[in-house]
Amino acid sequence: MARDYDLFVIGAGSGGVRAARKAAEAGARVGIAESDRIGGTCVIRGCVPKKLLVYASQFSEAFEDSAGYGWTLGEARFDWPTLIANKDKEIARLEGLYRANLERSNVEIFESRAVLAGDHRVRLEALGQTVTADTILVATGGRANPHADLPGHEHCITSNEAFHLERLPEKILIAGGGYIAVEFAGIFNGLGVDTTLVYRGGEVLSRFDMDLRRLLHAEMTNKGIRILCRTIFERIEKRPDGRLRAHLSTGEIEDADSIMLAVGRLPNTDGLGLEAAGVELDARGAIVVDAYSKTAVDHIFAIGDVTDRLQLTPVAIHEAMCFVDTVYRGRPTRPDHDLVATAVFSHPEIGTVGLTEDEARLRHADLDIYKTAFRPMRHTLSGRSDRMLMKLVVEPDSGRILGAHVLGPDAGEMAQLLAIPLKMGAKIADFDRTMAVHPTAAEELVTFAGPTERIRAGESVAA
Ligand code: NDP
Repeated sequence: MARDYDLFVIGAGSGGVRAARKAAEAGARVGIAESDRIGGTCVIRGCVPKKLLVYASQFSEAFEDSAGYGWTLGEARFDWPTLIANKDKEIARLEGLYRANLERSNVEIFESRAVLAGDHRVRLEALGQTVTADTILVATGGRANPHADLPGHEHCITSNEAFHLERLPEKILIAGGGYIAVEFAGIFNGLGVDTTLVYRGGEVLSRFDMDLRRLLHAEMTNKGIRILCRTIFERIEKRPDGRLRAHLSTGEIEDADSIMLAVGRLPNTDGLGLEAAGVELDARGAIVVDAYSKTAVDHIFAIGDVTDRLQLTPVAIHEAMCFVDTVYRGRPTRPDHDLVATAVFSHPEIGTVGLTEDEARLRHADLDIYKTAFRPMRHTLSGRSDRMLMKLVVEPDSGRILGAHVLGPDAGEMAQLLAIPLKMGAKIADFDRTMAVHPTAAEELVTFAGPTERIRAGESVAA
């Protein structure tokens, strides 16, 4: 008997929407269920609203910097509710576009939580309806880790609530040292909030190149963000006046208007009926998939953050396209997770692709490091002391560039373009013979006189 759909997608985030649309365009009958807003984390409560807040927070420095360029401005005032209302309007517009695109591709939308309900069946809880599908794609994404083992965690916010605060706090403490923690520290600090980052490790952004991490820490501190490393919250309590009191592992006590937890994201797999269906989960609760995003059950696939491969929007979209190629276009395609560029929209920004120096040292006894740190031209007249860092990690025998790391204005934009030559296998000689674009910051990447450090047999030797 024919089932209701060729494909039923659970979760209308970046990955789910792309898979649904492309499968429908390839001729499949497709349904999609979403229990929240269409667009998922990236559009509704992640990348997009975050970047808008980042832009907002950058004006304070721009106003200050303008003086060196001859401008005199009146008193600058900031209104948080205006920013949030305008941001919400833009997010609603994007949500509408996502919905319209699904409808245009003839994907049937169900506004309901959906759970697996036995052989090829999906139960739509809000609608009291069960549908059947030949293939089921789980694209339910992730959620902020609530840090449930922290006493008093219920008084804290996560990035979800940060986008909807009624008032900007005067003082905030942020737990974590990853993407979200450093990005929001920059946002709040730029908007004038007294901001402290509380991080358990020795240096922020543990998965990035150490030179970038150190300089980011220094620059964030210069901008007035207090960073407490090797420190965790032991307990949070709510005071009678409504403010929060944090007890830190160092014995210090910190009061604040708001405490934000940014200690990672968990895959959304609870209560979906996955185990009963035979879908395997890993120790973190993420869905285990093969190289083609297929789960332990032949007709159930999973893509995006729920599989916890690389928690990045473009990766989820790529996995969606590979899934459609594999299942609906007769072209089995494995997602390629190698050399994925990424940006952290911290102040200053980070853009990176490929191996960090530490990762490269584990794989290669010999390396050439090309590194430069300088004050970007825009700050000559502004008087600001911010430095910019560019670094290439090179395999000397082949000349191949293994990693490229940038900290400073527009680093994310640079990482996108650096990803192309690195993916093509570019060598340092290719960069050297590329004409500079002058005056830019990026020209530093093609004007190195030679390595700034040579590592031979694991030891640093004179450059
Ligand atoms: P991250 O994994 O980047 O960082 C989590 C941070 O929390 C780490 O510093 C980690 O420390 C710390 N941590 C974890 N558990 C605990 C604990 N029990 N107590 C104290 N600290 C803890 O996660 P985020 O939440 O910042 O972001 C989630 C994911 O979303 C990111 O990994 C990224 O892939 C994606 N993202 C991407 C963005 C972008 O592309 N610009 C922006 C925002 C998010 P440690 O380092 O020691 O493990």
